[in-house]
Amino acid sequence: MQCHYCDDDAVYAAESDGIKVGLCEQHFQERLEELAESDAFKRIKDQVDVNRRE
Ligand SMILES: [Zn+2]
Repeated sequence: MQCHYCDDDAVYAAESDGIKVGLCEQHFQERLEELAESDAFKRIKDQVDVNRRE
């Protein structure tokens, strides 16, 4: 799999809006930092907590 943002080989597969995209090490770190600063990351954590209770 190739990185979604550049031509490097993907080392991670992330899911965005139901579509799986490959991410290289560098872009994975960048996305992780963006998510950590956004409300989306909190929503994901909330969903994980909800699923765990079921
Ligand atoms: Zn990349």
